Amino acid sequence: MDKTYKRFTVRGISDKPECDVCGKKNLKLTIVIEDEAGELLHYGSDCASRTLRQDYQGKRHPISREAAISMGRSAKRGDSFARLSQQVTA
Ligand SMILES: [Zn+2]
Repeated sequence: MDKTYKRFTVRGISDKPECDVCGKKNLKLTIVIEDEAGELLHYGSDCASRTLRQDYQGKRHPISREAAISMGRSAKRGDSFARLSQQVTA
């Protein structure tokens, strides 16, 4: 059976100190990620690297915390909006 994926777009970086995924507080920054429904979520770098994969040349690659933050910074500058996906376990 094929795996299903939810798709996300990195929109920027925020100084909101709370992760919307796990509820962790006192973070230095969070990564702003838009889901398929257009809803903006704030991801801590730990949650971003743990749950998200980067789509690149038809394959999905794990991302590091540093990569997640750097994607957020690029998106905030308007340079690039990385496409990410998360596997949905049925
Ligand atoms: Zn989190």
